[in-house]
Amino acid sequence: MNNQSYYQATAPWSNGLPLNGEHECEVAIVGGGFAGLAVALGLVERGQHDVTLLEAHSVGHGASGRNGGFVFGGFSLGEEELLAQHGPERAREIYQLTLQGGEMIRRRVGHYEIDCDYLPAGVILADWFGDDETLRAKQQQMRSAFDVDWQWLAQDQLRSMLNSQRYFSGLLEANAAHFHPLKYCQGLARVLRQHEVPVYEDSAVRQIEQQQGGYLLRTDNGTVRARKVVIAGGGYIHGLNTPVAKAILPIATYVAATEPLGDRLGEFIRGDWAVYDTRFAFDYYRPLPDTRLLWGGRISIRRPNRQTLERWLRRDLAKVFPDLAHEVRFEQAWYGLMGYMRHKMPCVQETQPGLWHVIGFGGHGVAPTSGLGDLMASVLTHGDDRHRWFSRYQMPPVYGFAGSLAAQATYWQAQVSDWLKDMRFRKHRSA
Ligand SMILES: Cc1cc2nc3c(=O)[nH]c(=O)nc-3n(C[C@H](O)[C@H](O)[C@H](O)COP(=O)(O)OP(=O)(O)OC[C@H]3O[C@@H](n4cnc5c(N)ncnc54)[C@H](O)[C@@H]3O)c2cc1C
Repeated sequence: MNNQSYYQATAPWSNGLPLNGEHECEVAIVGGGFAGLAVALGLVERGQHDVTLLEAHSVGHGASGRNGGFVFGGFSLGEEELLAQHGPERAREIYQLTLQGGEMIRRRVGHYEIDCDYLPAGVILADWFGDDETLRAKQQQMRSAFDVDWQWLAQDQLRSMLNSQRYFSGLLEANAAHFHPLKYCQGLARVLRQHEVPVYEDSAVRQIEQQQGGYLLRTDNGTVRARKVVIAGGGYIHGLNTPVAKAILPIATYVAATEPLGDRLGEFIRGDWAVYDTRFAFDYYRPLPDTRLLWGGRISIRRPNRQTLERWLRRDLAKVFPDLAHEVRFEQAWYGLMGYMRHKMPCVQETQPGLWHVIGFGGHGVAPTSGLGDLMASVLTHGDDRHRWFSRYQMPPVYGFAGSLAAQATYWQAQVSDWLKDMRFRKHRSA
């Protein structure tokens, strides 16, 4: 097993150059993850080509190039809380932005011919507990509050799709998809360059200075003078002494890819769906085109070594597919950092005239970064005022390590409550 991700091992190398010398543009974007790339392409698609993107490493270096690859609706904040905070009408509109983000990805993959193993096979939410009542309520809520139809999968049906005794019923989000996220990032960067938008790599922005008529961004070897700036640094934001850097909590989650399994894979997953489950600390997994299984899960502040990572993920795999866990070899294992705000929602905000932020998508950001990145492009070009929908999500500080410890404690608490619920339902089933 090596510490390169499956995505890095199977995507072409990025060929971006670092920023050198003095430059000027209308909009400068900090961060080459899905959020920054979506803002940039949204601007180009609206006719604004005077854009520069600056990435500290290579595009997709952050969560966007390391994630599970699930393209589905929703935010890190749960739907219940979204409804409670905004009321039915606005909550539905906000949720719809994430579905539009998923649809935008589908369209861009086709339109720009981005080769990224995009598979519109649907996503299964598998019930870990045998709690049909809660699952039915979820299905009903998605239908009535968000106009989304998640198909019911009875236990027998689900077990014929996934060969695991671990699950009970499930819900299928049929219009969801999964893909190779790093290839998608690189594809977006390629499209931007084709439209003459410079995408600089190895170009960490060290300082953003307000000046007359805009901002001056400094990297190690150059500067960009821009009228407007969008900060989209996710959980990898660093080196910037701004309020947003103090408001982001970087939390790790872990992924591994097995060796190719050939026909054996189909004995466990009898289709192309991506799968997660109903626990707070859920597993997420999906088949890869070359018959590997991509397996992810857990949330923690720890950055373990490869052996520990493999041990954790194998233990999780054994709970779902015990036979497979005992025989399979992991070829890659890695982690990525999710950028959380305390309120679990992204921040879409102008903190000073012309200084915007699209950041804090947490563990549910593939489709939302597209939707909200595009919204940001519309704000910058057409004065779209829907960013006000997010005005309650400010940038409360997370107090560094103390915040990380609090997040870890919350996760452990949630794990315990998952465990207690599992015990309760086991007792109930055996009664
Ligand atoms: C392992 C993992 C699995 C996940 N699985 C899923 C999933 O299956 N589905 C889903 O919806 N979501 C998933 N997520 C969440 C999702 O990946 C993120 O929410 C999303 O990618 C965030 O995108 P972003 O552009 O905001 O941040 P990032 O992708 O982290 O990008 C930020 C970029 O900004 C750059 N940067 C930071 N500071 C600077 C600076 N000063 N100068 C220049 N550049 C800078 C970084 O290098 C980085 O490349 C997962 C996350 C992880 C970590």
